[in-house]
Amino acid sequence: MPESSLAADLLTWFDRHGRHDLPWQRDATPYRVWVSEVMLQQTRVEKVVAYFQRFMHGLPELADLAAADLDRVLALWSGLGYYARARHLHRAAELVMQRHAGVVPADLAALQALPGIGRSTAGAILSLGCGRPYPILDGNVKRVFARVFAVEGWPGRSAVQRTLWGHAEAQLARRRPGDYNQALMDLGASVCSRRKPDCPACPLKARCQACQDGEPEAYPAPAPRVRMPLKSAQVLLIRDARGRVLLQRRPPAGVWGGLWSLPEAPADADPAPWALENLGLETQFEWAWASFRHTFSHYHYDMRPVVLRLLEPGGGGLRESADWAWRTPHAPPNLGIPAPVSRLLHGLGRHNPGADRNDPNGAVRKTE
Ligand code: SF4
Repeated sequence: MPESSLAADLLTWFDRHGRHDLPWQRDATPYRVWVSEVMLQQTRVEKVVAYFQRFMHGLPELADLAAADLDRVLALWSGLGYYARARHLHRAAELVMQRHAGVVPADLAALQALPGIGRSTAGAILSLGCGRPYPILDGNVKRVFARVFAVEGWPGRSAVQRTLWGHAEAQLARRRPGDYNQALMDLGASVCSRRKPDCPACPLKARCQACQDGEPEAYPAPAPRVRMPLKSAQVLLIRDARGRVLLQRRPPAGVWGGLWSLPEAPADADPAPWALENLGLETQFEWAWASFRHTFSHYHYDMRPVVLRLLEPGGGGLRESADWAWRTPHAPPNLGIPAPVSRLLHGLGRHNPGADRNDPNGAVRKTE
């Protein structure tokens, strides 16, 4: 099948302007490409690079990932967010060991049968990691195709998705499919940006319908606006006499699933009596910081950090277990801890009673 001229133009541009030195492009094994693709979902390349290198340093081979504790995987993922990605990656690695003798399958259906791997991620693994001609359709690529072919409608709608996949398949380069897909991603991340695309510098400008119409930013159509629900709670920083803080492991599913966080009391509860009744810990209120907001993908979460001093020695009745741990705020990050909680712990570690009346961590303010 002849190469589409779009693919030829894109590859010529890629050879001169594309990215060739990303860490996962060096020694581009299917495993490395897979990890990078999962990290790149909802996260910018610039942020992913350091996380990828740390992850590969700790778990260089798929067998290492499959054999690792989930805690270790989540700790290496800490700060990247969207932790279901890490849980799925870990489970999928275990399944590759069981089903495919530890070899990432070079097969679209087998890849898509693994947790956390959709069609685009599978296409990226096959093209960038195995040199096989499969299309991809991540957010950047959707934007490029939506503009080049003036595809109406929000890409979250399945009919629009089908149209975009049709273009992705039709334009796919059979020769150098990995470079071609990387070129599409690079173009979307740099030249064809969401706002103010640099059309004069684009290799596709002569064929781009949105550019010809003078309204590139009209594509793709934005997602319908939905009102995000608001939840609120008090997060309890319970300190013992040694300065250690009580951490609680969250349930395996849901937001921050499997991560170590802080006990959460209802927003209207009196924190110390709540801790006694629900955790069996006798504590004394020390202070609280002003509430701050963390926005998850589907709701806002207002958290009011409350510091309590443990009155019983040795953690009272609450011993370390699979779901509870006492950690000093400065302890090395050997547990997976969500970034907002990690910032609170650091703020507490730096807190100097009597002197600190300001924001201890750039995110919250002391109020009491
Ligand atoms: S011409 Fe402009 S809108 Fe079209 S693909 Fe290139 S940068 Fe994007």
